Amino acid sequence: MIRKMSALMLLFALSAMGISADQNAPAPQPEVKPAYQVFAISYGVIPDFPVAQLVAGADKSRKMDIQLMVWLLKGPGGRNILVDSGFYREKYFKQYKIKDFIKPSEAVRKAGVKPQEITDVVITHMHWDHAGGADLFPTAKVWIQKDEYKYYVTDPDSPAKNKSGIDPDDVAWLVKIAGNRKQLKLVDGDAKEMIRGIVFYTGGRHTYASQYLGVNTKAGTVVVASDNLYLYENLEKHAPIASTFDAASNLNAQDRMKKIASNPRLIVPGHDPEVFVRFPKPGNGVAKIE
Ligand SMILES: [Zn+2]
Repeated sequence: MIRKMSALMLLFALSAMGISADQNAPAPQPEVKPAYQVFAISYGVIPDFPVAQLVAGADKSRKMDIQLMVWLLKGPGGRNILVDSGFYREKYFKQYKIKDFIKPSEAVRKAGVKPQEITDVVITHMHWDHAGGADLFPTAKVWIQKDEYKYYVTDPDSPAKNKSGIDPDDVAWLVKIAGNRKQLKLVDGDAKEMIRGIVFYTGGRHTYASQYLGVNTKAGTVVVASDNLYLYENLEKHAPIASTFDAASNLNAQDRMKKIASNPRLIVPGHDPEVFVRFPKPGNGVAKIE
């Protein structure tokens, strides 16, 4: 009893002197940002696409096969974030000749992830070839800019002429999940680190409020531009994308991407087959950006 008392008194005395029991515990380390692995995954090709619809001012006779891609961000702890979700609905196969198509939910398997293991889908913009497969990942959280969502999904007054390329089935899916606030995540504007290690940016103006991402990786910050930058050629010629709400804003966004990315080669455009040439590994329609 006496020994117990003295131990207690010693503790009181120590705390009175400002010395706590974990005095010798290691000092807290600065928080380390999670590092993601970034993969571009091919899910098809549209042959003979006019380059002038991608690069403002390009020669009207030029054509190229454009790449259809989704991007997978593999993080620690089983977090698998899919940036854009492609498309799969039948109507588009009547409208376009599409080669080498793989349903996006199958395409992710090439990077070693099952569709039910996708935890998040980031919709960069509402076009059919980027938002069309979101319902293939029915349990994932869906991240979209609030202004993009308002303009294309909930605002009946936004001009119909600006809504070409928007699939009513995608709109219906987003309306359906909107009641579940844990599933639908609206991003409120520019430069928001909504997920640790991943910053959401606006200003590319491909659509009303299209977004792109800066992703922390072991190789530095990778920019997943999606259609805010169609091709490497846009960057190299300093030419805005041909389809934008605001060409000057698009060029500013391209300049900004060069500052955000740790190296310009880590900027990934939205439809350039060259991505799989510059990053040939691991192959089979999967490119690891590093
Ligand atoms: Zn687009």
